[in-house]
Amino acid sequence: MSHIQDKVIIITGASSGIGEAAAKELASKGAKLVLAARREDRLKKLQDEIQNNGGQAIYKVTDVTSLTQMEELAAHTLKKFGKIDVLVNNAGIMPQAFLNENKVDEWDKMIDVNIKGVLYAIAAIVPSMRERKSGHVINLSSVAGHNIYPGGTVYCGTKFAVKAISEGLRQEEAMNGTNIRVTNVSPGAVSSELLETTTDPTMKAGLDEFYQVAIDADRIARAIAFAIEQPSDVGINEMIIRPTVQV
Ligand code: NDP
Repeated sequence: MSHIQDKVIIITGASSGIGEAAAKELASKGAKLVLAARREDRLKKLQDEIQNNGGQAIYKVTDVTSLTQMEELAAHTLKKFGKIDVLVNNAGIMPQAFLNENKVDEWDKMIDVNIKGVLYAIAAIVPSMRERKSGHVINLSSVAGHNIYPGGTVYCGTKFAVKAISEGLRQEEAMNGTNIRVTNVSPGAVSSELLETTTDPTMKAGLDEFYQVAIDADRIARAIAFAIEQPSDVGINEMIIRPTVQV
């Protein structure tokens, strides 16, 4: 039997890209999905599609920058399904620009969604995993969480932070014997709506060129499923998944 069957899995940023692809992949393997993001029309459409294909999914409109909304998402999931097995901390934005353009508002937004959003989800959801002494947190970092490049400074900073949070969480949960697994997933270029969050024209042109080699989001979804379906005494802690031809 698949180790995904009947697992209750919350995915943030499920309304497009990697989150949407992960929801479809995990639903096809028998998971009970809770889809979270801000765009209700997209969440409802995905929920209906999964249900029409015989899968199980519900959704809750959630802004990850609100701790209250994250707590409501956790409470809603526990009420509906009685437990949370996996959190896929996937919501993210990438408004890249050179530092000398002083896009402070975009820095704030990236920090709020990419770092604080990940931490708020951990704050709201992991306590119930600790109580059950069972769980799995999958955080979406990036190759930008391993390498820095001009124009990517703040985005890279947020993704380095995600990597640090993943490793710190892993060590603390291991130390405390909570049996919570932590996986840090670092994709390279993946086709999604992420590039649309970059407003700077020079940066956008460079990214459009770079993303010509992008792979489909279902490739990352499969890697996420692989991490989940390992036996519970195995933690896949780091995954870097690039297009083969990405330099
Ligand atoms: P998309 O833009 O397609 O998806 C991003 C998702 O995040 C959307 O569902 C969006 O939903 C959600 N989101 C954004 N802001 C919020 C918020 N405040 N609250 C809740 N949800 C939010 O991009 P990807 O699928 O590519 O990105 C998913 C993750 O993967 C991100 O963390 C990204 O940094 C990471 N990644 C992506 C790579 C790529 O090349 N695509 C490479 C490396 C990492 P909504 O707008 O409805 O709220």
